Amino acid sequence: MAVRVGVLGATGAVGQRLIQLLDPHPDFEIAALTASEASAGKTYRQAAKWRVDSPIPDAVADMTVTATDPDAVPDDIDMLFSSLPSSIGADVEPDFCEAGYVVSSNSSNGRMDDDIPLVIPEVNPDHLDLLEVQRDERGWDGAMVKNPNCSTITFVPTLAALTEYGLEKVHVSTLQAVSGAGYAGVSSMEIIDNAVPHIGGEEDKLETESRKLLGEFDGAELTHNGMHVAASCNRIPTIDGHLENVWVETEEDLPADAAAEAMREYPSLDLRSSPDPLIHVFEEPDRPQPRLDRTLGDGMAIAAGGLQKSPFGLQYNCLAHNTVRGAAGASVLNGELLLENGYI
Ligand code: NAP
Repeated sequence: MAVRVGVLGATGAVGQRLIQLLDPHPDFEIAALTASEASAGKTYRQAAKWRVDSPIPDAVADMTVTATDPDAVPDDIDMLFSSLPSSIGADVEPDFCEAGYVVSSNSSNGRMDDDIPLVIPEVNPDHLDLLEVQRDERGWDGAMVKNPNCSTITFVPTLAALTEYGLEKVHVSTLQAVSGAGYAGVSSMEIIDNAVPHIGGEEDKLETESRKLLGEFDGAELTHNGMHVAASCNRIPTIDGHLENVWVETEEDLPADAAAEAMREYPSLDLRSSPDPLIHVFEEPDRPQPRLDRTLGDGMAIAAGGLQKSPFGLQYNCLAHNTVRGAAGASVLNGELLLENGYI
């Protein structure tokens, strides 16, 4: 029987992707949709300015959107996928966990808390067991798991493939799509014919989240990875797909062909939404590109290319679909991991 789920922030850019992915999902059934007070009481069709590349699913079109409040969501919901603005998530997500709901969240609030697992299932599935620590410390009947920022998800799996060489220093420069800023995010006057070399708070997220994701969990405590990470984040006028340029210095010599093989062979999982392979490595020097490669693996794969030696270690490019792999798909995958591990 399908697990009954709800979407918090269902009308936004990520919320719409969540609905697109959850509607056909055999393990989940959408049974609640929430948004702001301005949308509450409207049908989903009225409330959402639908912009993803498939029609609004019939199952949700006439569902009534409620306020984002535990009292407004039915008790028989087993899991919530959250795509709320982080300031709102910080206020209300803990209330849902306290009320007994298991929340798989995109919002950045709490990602760096010691007892909140920040998980990419193919990279650090063992960190999910932090939920035991979380329940002990917070006394929640529910639970909270986070997926990282969309730009973090794009490069961390490629680093995970290289850990045996000893990661020392990582430089990453991003070219991020406008959908990463949400539906109302960047004004057209600001972004058309332009590139913006600043995304507030983003650089810090790449630097800190990557070290948490690649950290060691001993069953009680998580030790963050000691590598040094420097990020530079840029917004460009693509719709979907974040492209990143990466330089990695390692303890051991890392030839480009060995790095390509390590990425190609890095294992995926057999969760329903896991792509196979996880990392697609291009031979062509001008790939990956956002428009051509963001839908690899139904938008869940990471694409890499341009691997070469440089004076600053291994150099390469990588790409992921920011609202699928980097957001909604990442939450759904974490939901599948929660299900597989008996947390639902
Ligand atoms: P968005 O398009 O602005 O959507 C925000 C959603 O939250 C809408 O459903 C909105 O409902 C709802 N909301 C706004 N204010 C609210 C309030 N006071 N109470 C309850 N609900 C409220 O944002 P988004 O791009 O989908 O991002 C959502 C979250 O995912 C953010 O935390 C973002 O950082 C994170 N994220 C985004 C991406 C991406 O690529 N876009 C990637 C990774 C993570 P109304 O329609 O009623 O206003």
